[in-house]
Amino acid sequence: MRRLALIGNWKMYTTPSSARSLALGLVERLGSIKDADIVVSPPATSLAGVGEAIANTNIALCAQNAHWDDEGAYTGEISVKSLAELGCEYVIVGHSERRVIFKESDEMIGKRLVKVTASGLTGILCVGEKEEEREEGKTEEVLAKQMEIALSGVQKLSIIVAYEPVWAIGTGKRAEIKDIEASHRFIRKKILNRFGKDADNIRVIYGGSVKPENITELVSCEEVDGALIGGASLSIDSFTEIVTRAIERRIA
Ligand code: PEP
Repeated sequence: MRRLALIGNWKMYTTPSSARSLALGLVERLGSIKDADIVVSPPATSLAGVGEAIANTNIALCAQNAHWDDEGAYTGEISVKSLAELGCEYVIVGHSERRVIFKESDEMIGKRLVKVTASGLTGILCVGEKEEEREEGKTEEVLAKQMEIALSGVQKLSIIVAYEPVWAIGTGKRAEIKDIEASHRFIRKKILNRFGKDADNIRVIYGGSVKPENITELVSCEEVDGALIGGASLSIDSFTEIVTRAIERRIA
């Protein structure tokens, strides 16, 4: 069984001071846990402060996006070089909020992922279908296109794929277990087709309204190697509960 990855995406919530308090609270509750990879992804403006708060603990730092060049005339973008200097070990790429609101293309996401992985960081590639695509029976077609383009230039296997049905993000609606299992199996097949059996260690995690009440059922699925957690990662109690329940289920 692959090692659990439990990743909190704080999106554009928290300020530098409240992010630091949240991080210090998590360090107290989760800082010495060794049975899972615990990762937090604060807004870019809080990476330095959160990085300091979690230094020398088992909680790792993640950025929410990164550019494909080391520097340049790219107002508003952030380089992997800067993120690495701040202690980031992970970078999320292709989150549906980037795809839908900011119109990031699969090609752009692929370039970001190549840079992140080539720089020695782990890229968390988010993929997932919209509600109308699911209703039209196009889920696998959408996942195939997102995966094929994003992974086409990637040479290093330092990747986690997050299956996040767009309609389940921040809505309280979670996909049904049988649908999650089917999509995870399809994603794994695409990973193995692209990289061969060396890629069997790549984790496929689920995201979309994950909460303490549903994490046990999710990680009971063999195909689910962890979770990307948005809203519920903003509370020390609920993120701690998610991590604790996931680990308990895995070692049971
Ligand atoms: C996310 O931000 O990737 C996410 C899944 O959010 P939520 O858990 O709030 O649905």
